[in-house]
Amino acid sequence: MAENRDKTTDQMKIWKESRGSQRPDVLTTGGGHPVGDKLNLQTAGPRGPLLVQDVVFTDEMAHFDRERIPERVVHAKGAGAFGYFEVTHDITRYCKAKVFEHVGKTTPIAVRFSTVAGESGSADTVRDPRGFAVKFYTEEGNWDLTGNNTPIFFIRDAMLFPSFVHSQKRNPQTHMKDPDMVWDFWSLRPESLHQVSFLFSDRGLPDGHRHMNGYGSHTFKLVNADGKCVYCKFHYKKTDQGIKNLSVEEADRLAATNPDYAIGDLFNAIANGDFPSWTFYIQVMTFDQAERFQFNPFDLTKVWSHKEFPLIPVGKLVLNRNPVNYFAEVEQLAFDPSNMPPGIEASPDKMLQGRLFSYPDTHRHRLGANYLQIPVNCPFRARVANYQRDGPMCMSDNQGGAPNYYPNSFSAPQTQPRFVESRFSVSPDVARYNSEDEDNVTQVRAFYTQVLNEDERQRLCQNVAGALKGAQLFIQKRMVENLKAVHPDYGNRVQTLLDKYNAEAKKNTNVRVYSRPGAAAIAASSKM
Ligand code: NDP
Repeated sequence: MAENRDKTTDQMKIWKESRGSQRPDVLTTGGGHPVGDKLNLQTAGPRGPLLVQDVVFTDEMAHFDRERIPERVVHAKGAGAFGYFEVTHDITRYCKAKVFEHVGKTTPIAVRFSTVAGESGSADTVRDPRGFAVKFYTEEGNWDLTGNNTPIFFIRDAMLFPSFVHSQKRNPQTHMKDPDMVWDFWSLRPESLHQVSFLFSDRGLPDGHRHMNGYGSHTFKLVNADGKCVYCKFHYKKTDQGIKNLSVEEADRLAATNPDYAIGDLFNAIANGDFPSWTFYIQVMTFDQAERFQFNPFDLTKVWSHKEFPLIPVGKLVLNRNPVNYFAEVEQLAFDPSNMPPGIEASPDKMLQGRLFSYPDTHRHRLGANYLQIPVNCPFRARVANYQRDGPMCMSDNQGGAPNYYPNSFSAPQTQPRFVESRFSVSPDVARYNSEDEDNVTQVRAFYTQVLNEDERQRLCQNVAGALKGAQLFIQKRMVENLKAVHPDYGNRVQTLLDKYNAEAKKNTNVRVYSRPGAAAIAASSKM
């Protein structure tokens, strides 16, 4: 037996040891009937056919056939953990949510980290944004921050969301990742430049899930006890473990040798008592400032400058428990931005508004109409009392004999005016407003020229060119024009690298299989 095995490798041994001298349970069917033989089918004679009456077999086989639930369309590959949020600074002047009630208060949390474009079995170390979603189990219902490791996103209008995701996933005929699709979409939608530049920078390959920052990304509204509102962004940064990224070569190596690297890293750290934590901040913008802000404050492709809107410390996220069972607690863990307790409300952010519909809609499809009764999703610190009844997989008492209509005269759940959402006015014309030509470059330019140093800029250009070379020339050209609009140096450097790659490709008469974006192959390609 190998020595010095890590906690994930030793999981079976640890489980056995946890039972001490307890004798094995009696094996049963799903219905709890004790089973006498679990190795041999019941057949007519030793070589004869199977009997339908072999319910020991059919009970398990029928369940096995139904083991998989639909994979998440995005964020399919993930790791989860549990812990708590602790308030370290008072922000009750901005927000009445119970989770921020007083300094020292702790609230249980669940967190799920994920890659975005890959399927459930894909490698953890690919160049891809990372999901970083947090569920706070508060006394007034769960609060879900469906965050990422970047404060921005590729698009600002949710109408584009399905097309954007399709472009990053598989070609409808070849079922392969397709650089034409990826770069066609990105080059046609220059609002993606900011996130594309983050993605192809060093932070596009985080070293596991513990060494990256998290961001709620969307703009939200905070409401205080007097009903006063401000707009807000949530940042769960910095990671207290420090930012750490993988080199292209290391990410590539891990994708081939240890595709579950990030899941294992998180599990082992927690199992060894090395609990990861993040410092939690907010940025606050008054309604007045929002009117005067040089950008649309609800545009998910933009940040709010730290200089103008300084980070306000709030608390700490700590992860100190691994899931006891992956399927029960991670695969079924469902985050929904419309889970907002009193004090936290939506802003007009068009991506947030789209997700308010899309996320719970997805969960009803994946997990069923009663997915909020699944223990990991259940708002267990609040008492659910409403007029929703029945549906598949109802696992509670279905609210017993309480009236199932409202209003009623029988002392059933009543509304309370203090929980009415904040009032706001909207007066403009209803239309499909085109936001394509909003400023798509100023913040990307600041990122390129002021945030990145020379070495980081060089690696960014190499990473972009190494992936973009897989797309057709007219797409390359359009993308380079967009990069030039950010900064001529950005576009020119990428073009120079592309010229080199394209000349090499021309010399090579063999049919080339281009590397596939969103996979380790991106990393491999950018080494050239
Ligand atoms: P600041 O100098 O105050 O902030 C710069 C930010 O850039 C820091 O938060 C830093 O994170 C982050 N950063 C550093 N390297 C990378 C990278 N490779 N990928 C992503 N982020 C990185 O400036 P401003 O707030 O005025 O913003 C200037 C530009 O910085 C923006 O246009 C935007 O592109 C970028 N940025 C801004 C953020 C914000 O919320 N304001 C957040 C992230 C990026 P850290 O402190 O953890 O090192």
